[in-house]
Amino acid sequence: MAPGTLVSRAEQVAARLAAVRSAIEATGRDPDSVRIVAVTKGHGADAARAALGAGLVDLGESYGQELAAKAAELAADPGSAPPRWHAIGRLQRNKVRLIAPHVGLWQSVDRAVLAEEIARRAPGAAVLVQVDVTGEPQKGGCPPGEVAGLVSRCDDLGLSVRGLMAVGPAGPPPAARPGFLALVALADRHGLEIRSMGMSGDLEVAVTCGSTMVRVGTDLLGPRPTRTPMPGVVA
Ligand SMILES: *Cc1c(COP(=O)(O)O)cnc(C)c1O
Repeated sequence: MAPGTLVSRAEQVAARLAAVRSAIEATGRDPDSVRIVAVTKGHGADAARAALGAGLVDLGESYGQELAAKAAELAADPGSAPPRWHAIGRLQRNKVRLIAPHVGLWQSVDRAVLAEEIARRAPGAAVLVQVDVTGEPQKGGCPPGEVAGLVSRCDDLGLSVRGLMAVGPAGPPPAARPGFLALVALADRHGLEIRSMGMSGDLEVAVTCGSTMVRVGTDLLGPRPTRTPMPGVVA
């Protein structure tokens, strides 16, 4: 290719994905033991297509309306296999119904009323319980002491609890270590397989601590365009 030729978005994402996998491998973990969820929030459907084109199958969104809009747009693409959508953000109860037809894994179940609504709109759905391991309430998550109760409530509701999820603290990546280790200890105690922790800024720390699922936006797709919502979409 001549210099200056535009590299396709999918090729760019594929190169970034290779770098993320190398970073995981450099910690001593097998990259195949860590599932990569491409976080497409703030990007258009083109970014989601690029992630799928790079071979990823898991896409994460933080806002209900945005997930529903992108899912509908991708579903209209002829001949494409549907991605596995992950709801990763603090979820309002009234958004559950909107996204229930699309979501493959509900990552941020942090309270009983939310679990009840998910069980009503998506019976038997696969969920993660989000744990607040940082004491920063705006990040969501139930306090560690309430995990046992919420897991058993989800079980009672017929939901399939697959694991735990946490968002690391603001600040330097090593600061995330204690919280991530606490999450792993809780997951071990409950015999839960998925430990969803680690984003662009703290991916290596999370993987070193035992993450089995990372949620990566910026490192795969580049910086999010300044939040210009998609037409007609209100987050
Ligand atoms: C936005 C977001 C991510 C991805 O963040 P990056 O820093 O862009 O990798 C991961 N998890 C959650 C819960 C998020 O809201």
